[in-house]
Amino acid sequence: MPALPNPEYLKIEDNEKQILKLLDQLVLAPRVKALEWSHVTKQTPNMKIGYPGQHLASLITGVHGSRTGARGDDLEDGSEVKSCSRVDQLDSCKDCSNKVLRIEAVCPHCGSENLKRMDDSKWLFTVKTEDELKLLTEDIERVFLTIADYPNFSANDFETIRFQAFEIWNTDVRHEHFKTIMSNYYYKIFLEHIKKNPNKTPAPKNFWPYSYQFYLCNPIKVFQATVSDANTEPKVEIDLFVDPSKDRSELTAESMPTSLINMDELKILSMEENRNIIEPQLNSGTFDDLRDLTEKKTINKKKLVQLLPFINQDARALLDLRDTDKIAIAKTAYKRR
Ligand SMILES: [Zn+2]
Repeated sequence: MPALPNPEYLKIEDNEKQILKLLDQLVLAPRVKALEWSHVTKQTPNMKIGYPGQHLASLITGVHGSRTGARGDDLEDGSEVKSCSRVDQLDSCKDCSNKVLRIEAVCPHCGSENLKRMDDSKWLFTVKTEDELKLLTEDIERVFLTIADYPNFSANDFETIRFQAFEIWNTDVRHEHFKTIMSNYYYKIFLEHIKKNPNKTPAPKNFWPYSYQFYLCNPIKVFQATVSDANTEPKVEIDLFVDPSKDRSELTAESMPTSLINMDELKILSMEENRNIIEPQLNSGTFDDLRDLTEKKTINKKKLVQLLPFINQDARALLDLRDTDKIAIAKTAYKRR
């Protein structure tokens, strides 16, 4: 199944050099200035990644913008671009619930160091009609997802920022769950809400980066850059750049951390018939050690992550979307085995 960018639209050259320049001029340098002003104004620096996201998408893919800004036609080749930034999200105080800026080490209202740092921005998909659903999941060939976040967020490292881009191709069967997820949203959530409350527009579909459903869509990473000393003297390193003309069907989909799976899914992975797929992915221990984890009531996640930290696309093909993510009709239409 093809996931091949149309060479006719590849018009931007010197991509990596231009990406570095764009990140510096449009994102990082203005943000350092905004951070300086934040100390004075106590306003969030609010790096708006939405618009630079479109620029970045063009430089990464080599494809010009469509000039219209119309839905489902963000790039000239018809690709849809979605951007998400987890950088400079507004935080809050766990003790007094007031808002706290990322640059503030203690709550300015009560002095508490007990802060809730936010890291929950996601990609939003609006699907309001059957036509929009068809456009998003059939007519559009490529869905291009960009994200800016902190790779060391859990260590409270807000000096290192990472930019990534992933692709999902509606033309390639390995991404078929994307259609199921969006159809599920439209038929089961959007239309049901409208039925109950015709005057209220339902919330868009939240597509969560790094979630179980994200990995089951087999996203292909085509770009990654890491910025060090981001808040003072940003230095950008491009970690991954996939040639815009490269056939995406030859690329490996992202590995999924097993910390995301539940007991039912672990039981499937540790079935004897799946030994040949799982065994080569073990990091330590044996396949039988993995199966032993299913004997308990709950998964020992620490042990699981030691044995089998990630699973690849082949292992994910053994798993299905969770019931909340699929509709009854899709269940049969997309049955794999
Ligand atoms: Zn407080």
